[in-house]
Formats: sequence, structure tokens, C-alpha cells
Amino acid sequence: MFEEEFDLENRIVSTSYTSEDAETDTGLRPKTLSEYIGQEKAKENLSVFINAAKLRGETLDHVLLYGPPGLGKTTLSSIIATEMGVNIRITSGPAIEKSGDLAALLTNLSEGDVLFIDEIHRLNRAVEEILYPAMEDYSLDIIIGKGPAARSVRIPLAKFTLIGATTRAGQLSTPLRDRFGVTFKLELYTPEELALIVTRSAGILGIEIDRDGALEIASRSRGTPRIANRLLRRVRDFAQIDNEGRITERIASYALKKLEIDELGLDNTDRRMLEAIIKYYGGGPVGLETLAATVGEEAVTLEDVYEPYLMQIGYLSRTPRGRCVTRAAYEHLGIPYSGGKNDIDGQETLF
Ligand code: ADP
Repeated sequence: MFEEEFDLENRIVSTSYTSEDAETDTGLRPKTLSEYIGQEKAKENLSVFINAAKLRGETLDHVLLYGPPGLGKTTLSSIIATEMGVNIRITSGPAIEKSGDLAALLTNLSEGDVLFIDEIHRLNRAVEEILYPAMEDYSLDIIIGKGPAARSVRIPLAKFTLIGATTRAGQLSTPLRDRFGVTFKLELYTPEELALIVTRSAGILGIEIDRDGALEIASRSRGTPRIANRLLRRVRDFAQIDNEGRITERIASYALKKLEIDELGLDNTDRRMLEAIIKYYGGGPVGLETLAATVGEEAVTLEDVYEPYLMQIGYLSRTPRGRCVTRAAYEHLGIPYSGGKNDIDGQETLF
């Protein structure tokens, strides 16, 4: 019954944004802080800052959001704009190629508007320098002319809020990082939070799902709402054929098994990476670049996309000398633990 081919070329548990996500995203994205599930610490503080800024009739301070992809940084930025009652312009670091591009964006903002720059760590240096006076004094310094005749002209900008999102706060230059008034680190979601997100999304998409079905999808979503929503859509396909459209624990677990996503949300790529460390490097430590070359992925992808979850579930540890697989991962993969070069919880021994 389930012999249909599914497009597994695009990794289902990928945290990156796909065109399929885009189709349903607009409807699924929470619009207000109260609809935004989880991230309690960030939400609590944000709501104080938003209300205080509104009371004073001021623009919200610049906000830096960081954390792995798919955790809700873009969503949260739109919510901030909605709660502040202002417009949002969305762009990304790599999309702003020249200083002029950024200058055009900045001069088009109205008082209080939010400018959201995704992947802000990928802004080039010249563009980044335009941001400093813009963030600090709401002004644009442009050089007119060349050589000895060149002079600098200062153009005032409307007071705006910059929201920067990044997967790697450590890669931001200090001058840029210092210009953000507030920084929030988004955390991976718990299965219970993800189950709430799945149930909410199912409600919006008109999918019938019970609590255990939602929890089953949630616990295999690597702590990431984007993956949870994507798995929900895939499981729905199976449910429609086998279970009259209703998602239960049985159908969710069956579908996910067919999609080769195990009970912890690991797919073939995760398993390949862990197995490579065990097979070729005795469980580690192995340097990131070497590992990337071995599994044929880019080092940044391993670092941003695969590692956060594997570390969170305690299967991988980062040590000063490289990545190590833990005993728990050996057990999960059904490989006898030889003691390797690691101690019990995967921390490198001192010699
Ligand atoms: P990021 O910008 O961090 O990559 P997004 O903001 O694009 O992530 O979020 C990915 C998807 O996950 C969104 O489409 C949204 O539907 C869902 N999502 C993210 N965070 C939440 C949340 N806290 N509650 C409900 N849905 C969420």
C-alpha cells in the first residue's frame, strides 16, 4: 500500500527552508507572541521590552537572535513587528552585495520599522560598516566623489529596529555584536512543545491527529519546528491512504519508519556521520574538516545543522581536539562499545 516513491533526495529532516515549506508556511507561522510556542525566556523578556518601548513611544532596541536553523527566528521577528505595530522588511546577509543595496533598504524604512537580516554573519565587511552609524545614530555616511575631492555626507535615517538572525553568534564581528541592545539564544524545543506545535499546525491544515500521534512526530523532529511541520505533512500522506486521514501513534511511527527516520529523529546522514567517526577514527577525536571530507558534507553544514541535535541528545561531543562519539551513540547504532579513546560520556581523556 505504501510502495509510492517519496522524494528523499531532499533530506526530510533538513533544517533548511524548502519550497514545500513556503507553501504552507504563511498559514502556519504564529502571528502573535501568545501563539508562539516555547522559548519562554526570550518571550518573557521580549514582551517586557516591547511593552516598555510602546509605553515610551520609542523604537525597539536592535535585537540579535541566534540558534540553529528552523527554530523560529524569522517567525519571531515578524511577531515583534506585529506586536510593535510596524512594518517589517526581510532580507539576508548574502543578498546584500553592495553598500548601495543596504543604503537603499535603510533609506526606505519608515519610523519604527523592523529591518530583518537573516544570516547576518554573512554580510561583507564594506556593507557591515554602513550598519554601524545606521544602528548607532540612525544615519548613513556616504562618500561622494573620489580622491582629494571626496567628502563624506551624513544622511539622517528614520529610527528603525534591526533584527539580526544568525546560526553562529561567534562569527559576528565585535563592533557589530556590540551594537545590538538585546541578544536572545533560541533553544531546541522539547518534544512536548513540538507536540503542541504539531497539534496547532494540524488544526490549521485540517488534519485530524491525536495526542500520541503528535508526540510521535514531535519526538522525531530534532527539536526543530520546521522539521516537525514537514514530518506532519509527510505523515498525513500515509494517514490519508491507510487511516482515513487520521494520524495516530501507530500510523506516525509506521510512516516515519518508511521514511527512514528513527525514533530519535536521526536519518541516514546522521547515522553515516556517527558510523564514520567510529569506523575510521575509533570513535574520535576527529577534526571537523576531516570529518566533513569523509562524509562529503561541508564543515559549516555539519556544524550548524547536524551537530546541535546530536550534541543535545548526547551522541556527539566537541572536544578541543575534535569530535567524539559517545557510548550512547554506539548503543543506539548497535555497535559494541570498545572503550575507544573516550571515557564514558565521550569527554576526551586528559592524555
Ligand atoms: P528560522 O528563521 O529560525 O530558520 P522560521 O522562523 O522560518 O525559522 O521557522 C520555521 C517554521 O517553524 C515556521 O514556518 C513556523 O511555522 C514554525 N515555527 C517556528 N517557531 C515556532 C513556534 N515557536 N511556534 C509555532 N511554530 C513555530
